[in-house]
Amino acid sequence: MLKKVVIQGFKSFAEKTEITFEPSITGIVGPNGSGKSNVAEAIRWALGETKTKILRSERQQDVIFTGSQGKKPVGMAEVTLILDNSNKYFPLPYDEIAITRRFFRSGESEFYINKSPCRLKDIHELLVDTGLGKHGYAIIGQGQVDEILFSSPEEKRSYLEEAAGINRYRMRELEAKKKLLETQNGIIRLNDLTCELI
Ligand code: ATP
Repeated sequence: MLKKVVIQGFKSFAEKTEITFEPSITGIVGPNGSGKSNVAEAIRWALGETKTKILRSERQQDVIFTGSQGKKPVGMAEVTLILDNSNKYFPLPYDEIAITRRFFRSGESEFYINKSPCRLKDIHELLVDTGLGKHGYAIIGQGQVDEILFSSPEEKRSYLEEAAGINRYRMRELEAKKKLLETQNGIIRLNDLTCELI
């Protein structure tokens, strides 16, 4: 369960802003353009979303606060998601899991799990089959219900597979196949070298 989102320097959130999600329903209300959608985007972004279309921006750098009346632009966007893990749903020995993404104007990205630097791949692996991952269904954006309803049979199958919890194994299968191919290529190369030596 998502317990808290901490946003700083992301889109309209210049200052550090903490949003706590209590059990049951949390509603975010505010006037048009006040940043409601930016909260959902911050969550997607921290989970590794890079598609500028989904983030309603043209370049990756556009997610960094660009300044407003009386507030200077900042050099870095940072979003942290605090997930409850008291039931050890995630295979890590912590009651809370903090996933952090940072992005600097220079184009550098940093990812952390509980303050330890990691790769984006580690975050994807942690979240696969939870619905929160890259192609997760935990965040349904405006217009996305139609998108799911009218998606191709292959895409619908992918949603079902995520819910059924088999994407984790599909990911491992792909990695194993890649390693197998690399090993086969290594053997071919070795055979070539052996032939040259004989
Ligand atoms: P609506 O109810 O109309 O959908 P909303 O509350 O969801 O609006 P958002 O779309 O989340 O609002 O926020 C839009 C605001 O975010 C705009 O005022 C826009 O200027 C601001 N914004 C977006 N990107 C940045 C950025 N990089 N720096 C500063 N402000 C930004």
